[in-house]
Amino acid sequence: MSVSSAGREQAVAAAARHFDDGHFVRDLARRVAIRTESQNPASGPALSAYLHDEMVPSLGALGFTSQVHPNPEPPYGPLLVAQRIESADLPTVLMYGHGDVIRGQDASWTQGAGPWTVAADGERLYGRGTADNKGQHSINIAALAQVLAARQASGRGLGFNVKWLIETGEETGSPGLAAFCSEQRDALAADALIASDGPRMRRDRPTLFLGSRGVANFDLSLTCRAGGHHSGNWGGLLRNPGVVLANAIACLVDGRGRILVDALRPPPIPANVRAALQGLVFGGDPGDPEVDTDWGEPGLTPAERVIAWNTLEVLAYRTGNPDFPVNAIPPSAKATMHMRFVVGTDVTQLREHVRAHLSAHGFGDVEVGEATVMNATRLDPDDAWVRFAQRSIERSTGEPPVLLPNLGGSLPNDVFADILGLPTVWVPHSYAACSQHAPDEHLLAPVARQALELMAGLFWDLGDEAASLPRRTQR
Ligand SMILES: [Zn+2]
Repeated sequence: MSVSSAGREQAVAAAARHFDDGHFVRDLARRVAIRTESQNPASGPALSAYLHDEMVPSLGALGFTSQVHPNPEPPYGPLLVAQRIESADLPTVLMYGHGDVIRGQDASWTQGAGPWTVAADGERLYGRGTADNKGQHSINIAALAQVLAARQASGRGLGFNVKWLIETGEETGSPGLAAFCSEQRDALAADALIASDGPRMRRDRPTLFLGSRGVANFDLSLTCRAGGHHSGNWGGLLRNPGVVLANAIACLVDGRGRILVDALRPPPIPANVRAALQGLVFGGDPGDPEVDTDWGEPGLTPAERVIAWNTLEVLAYRTGNPDFPVNAIPPSAKATMHMRFVVGTDVTQLREHVRAHLSAHGFGDVEVGEATVMNATRLDPDDAWVRFAQRSIERSTGEPPVLLPNLGGSLPNDVFADILGLPTVWVPHSYAACSQHAPDEHLLAPVARQALELMAGLFWDLGDEAASLPRRTQR
């Protein structure tokens, strides 16, 4: 066995021991106890305390220098930038996490000891933020610490530079994050983002994801006249906006969920995205709804439909008074539309595209609202950083990780991919049934332990191989 592979094994074992001896849970419990509910306007001091009292000293012990910055959008919570630079010649990895959590919902917990105390029950570690996101960035900080200690013991450094960005507003939509990253582009300059949030594909399958689908919401509305009119006297004389709007929607998306507007359809699925999705099964866990096999774009597998394609949905539809219907032609109708879309879909002209399509089909008087959009991102699965992470995790776990080219859901990864221009590799440490955002949020102990091991392996391999990975920063 070479020196390096013995060292790697020791670092991975040390990361597991860090869990087994209770030190990981001790650190996590201290962090969970800080009530960082960003949705609660009174949480400012807690958000600040999380960074100053927990992150700054924890990272400082590893040789990071930290700066806590006010949010460029007051009164939202502060952001921490920490860096540990070994050499300008080495590549730099940016890590990201969020210290804020969703409201505790204290009264609704049925397990553990409420949201602010980490309580172990079987393989579950209950507590607000254990999964989203305190547990996840705590795993990454702890794994980094174990690798650093192991390498320093043999007289070496980490072998790469690390920066940490920790925000405290993610659960309120990351206010100020994009502006902050634009302002701090130089301070955050790196060669890749490696971060952890969200769930694995399955609890026992380590997963990589490389971006997320985007999301766009927009309203369709039609008002024909001021008030309702008796349907016996006026039915047949007056256009019914409820009928017209339903037909307008039907010309955008058909009765099987196929999008009919060319400009809202994605480009063909790249072969390497298709290959990554081969064999992945979504749903099927207890409590999951039955997947509709005849829904969505024909010819695609369910995995391709949810990960590699666009969807156009009706979230809400209102005409007349649904609670107390009366025999009248309603004056107006309104629908809230919702699109999930993949990289390559042009949403900058979304409103114009929808308007033009509706006009061409005789629905020119349906009003199309301005869309609120979160952009889509997806790193090329063949990117060298992806292949590196796949190899490393396979080496640690004996099995290649699931590779999701992007999540079906959405996250503000465009801040990292587009504003900072980084290849983005996400390694989630939670699982779908973690009750994130609900009472009884928990982290699974075996997943956390394995995540500590595989992140230690990843950091170890980065130290050995970083020089061979593509660079964005200047030498
Ligand atoms: Zn969350």
